[in-house]
Amino acid sequence: GRTQRLDKVLSHIGFGSRSELRKLAKQGLITVNGTVVKDSGAHVDPYADKIEVAGEAVHYREHIYLMMNKPPGVLSATEDKRDRTVLDLLEERYAVFEPFPVGRLDKDTVGLLLLTNDGKLAHELLSPRKHVPKTYEAVVEGDVGPEDVAAFAEGVELDDGYVTLPAQLVILGRERGKQVISRISLTITEGKFHQVKRMFQAVGKKVIFLKRVSMGNLALDESLPEGACRELTKAELALLG
Ligand code: URA
Repeated sequence: GRTQRLDKVLSHIGFGSRSELRKLAKQGLITVNGTVVKDSGAHVDPYADKIEVAGEAVHYREHIYLMMNKPPGVLSATEDKRDRTVLDLLEERYAVFEPFPVGRLDKDTVGLLLLTNDGKLAHELLSPRKHVPKTYEAVVEGDVGPEDVAAFAEGVELDDGYVTLPAQLVILGRERGKQVISRISLTITEGKFHQVKRMFQAVGKKVIFLKRVSMGNLALDESLPEGACRELTKAELALLG
């Protein structure tokens, strides 16, 4: 297998900084295949060698795959001068892997956001040619009707002249208060900037709440509180292909 520096391997999965690891090694607290290794710069095979830190077995992996239930008010960017980003919400044990969000949700959009440090998977999910379906639930001002279902199935012209690919609109319900609001679900297979909001704008309606509930075959775990994150299970990861 490929060997890497012991301190690099251990810091990648959250066992501390390189200088902290140098101290741990000097103290004789790190073993590789049962032998104490006092040089934290020694080369190891992180998959084949049995590494222990203070008696704790190390399970190395390069990639992490996280599902976040994005809360409103945070950016799905990696850094921003003014606003908090989804990375600011990550627990340290996840943050050490340096994941990044796969695609963007607007600041006020909530729901399913994948984060990973696997650039290849991210690229595949985002590739415009792959047409990975994304399903959103929304609350829309006004009476969304069959004419809108038909228009979205056909394709609507956005403010910049772009005509959207066929999208599946489902009307989930309507409420008649001072004004009519509609609850809908919409599945799109592309990801233009503000696409869902702009599609409704194209038919003269306004999205007032937007939540992503699935991406490909992967559904948001509704038991995940807003702002919380967990690793994908093996089965969920397989769904992303
Ligand atoms: N479409 C939007 O308008 N906003 C999002 O955040 C995602 C899809």
